[in-house]
Amino acid sequence: MTTKEGIILIDTIYPYNSEALILGGMQKLGLDPKNIKYVLISHAHADHIGGAEMLQTRYKPRIVMGGPDWEWVEKYPDRYKTMAPKRDIVATDAMKITLGGRTLTIWLTPGHTPGTMSYTFTVLDRGKPVNVAYSGGTAFNFVNNTPDPGIKNFQTYIDSQKHMAEKAAAANATVLLSNHSEFDNAVNKNRMLAGRGKAPHPYEIGADSVQRYFQVMQGCARAAQLRLEQRAAEGIP
Ligand SMILES: [Zn+2]
Repeated sequence: MTTKEGIILIDTIYPYNSEALILGGMQKLGLDPKNIKYVLISHAHADHIGGAEMLQTRYKPRIVMGGPDWEWVEKYPDRYKTMAPKRDIVATDAMKITLGGRTLTIWLTPGHTPGTMSYTFTVLDRGKPVNVAYSGGTAFNFVNNTPDPGIKNFQTYIDSQKHMAEKAAAANATVLLSNHSEFDNAVNKNRMLAGRGKAPHPYEIGADSVQRYFQVMQGCARAAQLRLEQRAAEGIP
């Protein structure tokens, strides 16, 4: 997100490609990485936190991450070698990051990892304000194959989807972004953008479709949770 006082960067991809893709990509867009003031890490997996240490060392932005994910990074320094930023801002639910008159609100959505963050914010599309819901944790990559702790983990995930669906509705979000772009059809939408003409922005899918994303995520999690509940009822660990 660009503002007149600097840039808020969301996620930092892998350690091996963050330099080429983030710094190279920004230069291509005419943006100076020196202007990055905040880096938000949606969760502490290598494909999101990978470039955080590099950015923190070079450009000294503030780094924001969920409390449990800061703890995780500090607990496993070897696993996060070359990735781990020094502890900085610990996100709380409804925390606002404000820069240059623009505001992004953080929502805690544990599940994908215990510290996963999602966001609501407003962007300008050809001068028109458009509200975005950014879902920080698409995919069930937590322990999900045994009733204990799978049933509990799915419940955490479901509760977070409900929480974020409410915040997306309150913000009148008409754009849904996932932190994994294969889940929001980003590649096709980016291609569509080239031939957009006077049509709406391809990312603008409408408030109902944004809500459907969160319903589908809840439904999928509930189906997987039911399977574990059945297993537990049959006495299979
Ligand atoms: Zn992840």
